[in-house]
Amino acid sequence: LLRLRGVRRAFGDHVVLDGIDLDVSAHEVVALVGASGSGKSTLLRTINLIERVDDGEIFLRGQDVSDPRVDADGVRARIGVVFQAYNLFPHLSVLDNVTLASRLVHRVPRAEAERRGLELLASIGLADFARAFPDRLSGGQQQRAAIVRAIATEPELLLLDEVTSALDPELVGEVLALVRSLADGGTTIVMATHEMAFAREVADRVVFLDAGRIIEDAPARQFFESPREERTREFLARFL
Ligand code: ATP
Ligand code: MG
Repeated sequence: LLRLRGVRRAFGDHVVLDGIDLDVSAHEVVALVGASGSGKSTLLRTINLIERVDDGEIFLRGQDVSDPRVDADGVRARIGVVFQAYNLFPHLSVLDNVTLASRLVHRVPRAEAERRGLELLASIGLADFARAFPDRLSGGQQQRAAIVRAIATEPELLLLDEVTSALDPELVGEVLALVRSLADGGTTIVMATHEMAFAREVADRVVFLDAGRIIEDAPARQFFESPREERTREFLARFL
């Protein structure tokens, strides 16, 4: 579904992504882990074409989307994204947030978009908040609404960047439960996370980034139980 080849991105002379090769199959859940500054967010942003690549290619279903001639908005419409915080538009109701992209980008009629939006909100227990503004919701509820907004358009790929790291600890569980249910439902997910226990439980594969390079890319179980690389062991030791 997604294929990165030799992706490079530098800011000035600071190389942030240094030749990334990554393949993600349909229905796969891939966790990106690594120290702060290792390039996880930048990698997600290049996949979503927010950040351009200096070198290398990104293929989505075989199409080279890193080609500058490609319509970036058209590609972004196929990818759902949720960031660490502040995902919802504060001046729109929760339901309008969830239905906005369907209506404006995908031209789904309002009634149909709202029916689907209410269904999604009901599935995460937020139907009663459909007409409320986001500031009425807890951080965990906001993140869950942001996640259902991202999947409302049925994207081919869902990118999650530290979706729980801005939350109070007691709210983390409900957001992770939603991600787990999407993963179980077959959504293809690439997620940057520092929740190692969650990565271990939900991800099919874990990719360890260090200074913009992939040090290890392994099935989750192998990654945590018998990492091949010394640097991976050092990294994991910090979480014990
Ligand atoms: P964290 O775990 O803290 O979220 P990360 O792995 O997501 O870290 P990135 O946000 O991708 O790391 O940043 C990687 C490096 O790229 C950092 O050193 C950061 O300062 C640098 N960087 C990112 N965006 C820019 C930018 N627009 N201009 C200059 N430097 C940038
Ligand atoms: Mg980051």
